Amino acid sequence: MAAPRPYPDGVASAAALAPSARTILIIEDEATIAAAVAARLRSEGFSVEIAGDGPVGVDRCRQIHPDLVVLDLMLPGLDGLEVCERIQADRPVPVLMLTARDSERDLVVGLGVGADDYMTKPFSTRELVARVHALLRRVDRDRAEGAGTTGSATVLVGEVMLDPATRRVTRNGEVVHLTPTEFDLFAFLAAAPDRVFTREELLAEVWGYEVVSGGRAVDSHVRAVRHKLGNNLIRTVHGVGYALDDAGVQ
Ligand code: CA
Repeated sequence: MAAPRPYPDGVASAAALAPSARTILIIEDEATIAAAVAARLRSEGFSVEIAGDGPVGVDRCRQIHPDLVVLDLMLPGLDGLEVCERIQADRPVPVLMLTARDSERDLVVGLGVGADDYMTKPFSTRELVARVHALLRRVDRDRAEGAGTTGSATVLVGEVMLDPATRRVTRNGEVVHLTPTEFDLFAFLAAAPDRVFTREELLAEVWGYEVVSGGRAVDSHVRAVRHKLGNNLIRTVHGVGYALDDAGVQ
């Protein structure tokens, strides 16, 4: 991992990225689970808010701009899938999704809804905190790397333009909202066109830590990127993995 680099304006520093500066929104209707997770995260120095249903969660997300969202799948009002879509449409925010069963998780992973990680209930709050830290570290690393490339050329892939500095993506000039993981995955593949990466390599390079859903998480995010940016950009190499399709975009 690269050493953290200062932000371009020199204002933000490591201090600004300390856990105490971070806000986490928990969207969960089971009050005991929400309270246990909140207590644990607060003890880690995070500022935590709880929303008890989907619509309130979407509203709070727009108001407080959390650094990360812990999102329950089964919610009254709006379910977690819709909530995830709505909060990601406004701005990319890392989402850790909670599901009641492994089968439910697999189903959701298969849909490519744009959550960055998943946990199945019952889980240990210690494990949840570890995952929250891992996700935030990854976002920090990406921001630092983006800042380090300020002024460097944007990446053009067919009709899709990626700006690593701002993490903005446009397709035919229109802004496309990618989740943090979707952006990282696509940027990683785009940096080495035509090179085939295995799912394991992508997990190691893009996620940077163990995800429970493993290779399926990669498949899920590839599906989501294709859905948003076009089917011809990422090639499936059966039995191996994925590559940015240089031929397909010309
Ligand atoms: Ca629930």
